[in-house]
Amino acid sequence: MTSVAVLGMGLMGRAAAGRLAALGQSVVAWNRSPAALAELPTTDRLSVTTDLASAIAPAERVVLWLADGAAIRSVLLDGAIGSQLAGKTVVQMGTIAPEESRSIATDLAALGVDYYEAPVLGSIPELSAGKLLLMVGATPAQFDRERAWLQTFGPEPLLVGPVGAAAALKLAMNQLIGSLTTAFAASLALVEREGIEIETFLQILRPSALYAPTFDKKLQRMLDRDFDRPNFPTKHLLKDLDLFNQAATAQGIDTAPVQAVRAVVQRAIALGLGNTDYSALFAAIAPEGAEPERTL
Ligand code: NAP
Repeated sequence: MTSVAVLGMGLMGRAAAGRLAALGQSVVAWNRSPAALAELPTTDRLSVTTDLASAIAPAERVVLWLADGAAIRSVLLDGAIGSQLAGKTVVQMGTIAPEESRSIATDLAALGVDYYEAPVLGSIPELSAGKLLLMVGATPAQFDRERAWLQTFGPEPLLVGPVGAAAALKLAMNQLIGSLTTAFAASLALVEREGIEIETFLQILRPSALYAPTFDKKLQRMLDRDFDRPNFPTKHLLKDLDLFNQAATAQGIDTAPVQAVRAVVQRAIALGLGNTDYSALFAAIAPEGAEPERTL
């Protein structure tokens, strides 16, 4: 039985630990704070701990579902745990900057650790169903060795390039999440406030080249202003747009449009919607109470 330590029992880590255990792997789930562990059902295949050393000791693979690059550094590299990672494979699945992933890879390699990145597109439902889109930054040899194991999470992991390449591709994807959601929210807000039937708007949009499936996925939440029960919270979108802007600026790319999207995300967070679903961008685009008075 393969033994895996999953570090970070947030939204994605919890689902990942559950899926690995359901598919027969022996999982130790670790989290910095104990609160998240209390919600996890322990079984003969899934145990939980806040003791990092005991999570890592039996593991062949250490899977990272931590919030960001700083969290990874603080857990794996800033303390004394590094020496216990030698000979293990560390799989980084969260969304971090390409530079962060490359420097973590270098520092872990110096400790004798086999590191690669496998950030994902998709969220909790796709993870639980094993249908994530996996972007892999690794050597071809690592990819050949790890491909079958990665299929636990998604049917067709894709080798993008060396470490850093998949992290960059993931940021390119998440920039689209922010930009497409903002663009749709703006059009929906105008349609709604002009009193046009929403279904008429969609009857034109859906068959057109402008349509993206995410529009229908987020439509009802926006109309109902129901942003609870997030899969992907607004605060992580802000993090990812900042990472995109840093990486793009370093490549001489004009980030002005993405900075404007970032400002929308920041306004949503200022409205207290940082921990809600990112469809909350609609609330920043079309604030309640800002409707003009209608004169007949
Ligand atoms: P989350 O629910 O916010 O969980 C974040 C986890 O990171 C928690 O376990 C938290 O532990 C831990 N953490 C944060 N700072 C830490 C530190 N300094 N030291 C130790 N642990 C720390 O996030 P998530 O939604 O699961 O996402 C995890 C990663 O995957 C992020 O990079 C996110 O962008 C990416 N991602 C998310 C989704 C999604 O749909 N949610 C999809 C694709 C990729 P505590 O409980 O102790 O705070």
